[in-house]
Amino acid sequence: MSTTTEALQDRTFHVRCPKCGNEESFRVEVCVMANLYNSTDDMQTYTDADSDHEWDKHSHARCGADDCEWQGEVWELEEAYDQARTA
Ligand SMILES: [Zn+2]
Repeated sequence: MSTTTEALQDRTFHVRCPKCGNEESFRVEVCVMANLYNSTDDMQTYTDADSDHEWDKHSHARCGADDCEWQGEVWELEEAYDQARTA
């Protein structure tokens, strides 16, 4: 087993694009709580997002590869990862 293969299997996120096979870069929609300020005496309104965020296997995802336009949910990326390794 090569060092590269071992590194791939040690990744925290086991995801793979079902369209192009990319395993490195993805966009995932996350849920984040934010403070919303709505001042009454001037026009200052703004939001202040927390650094904590959540996502799960049903979160919307996009492939991060330059020429790939795959979109779906995180579970589809995990399924593609598993299929690539059991094939
Ligand atoms: Zn892709």
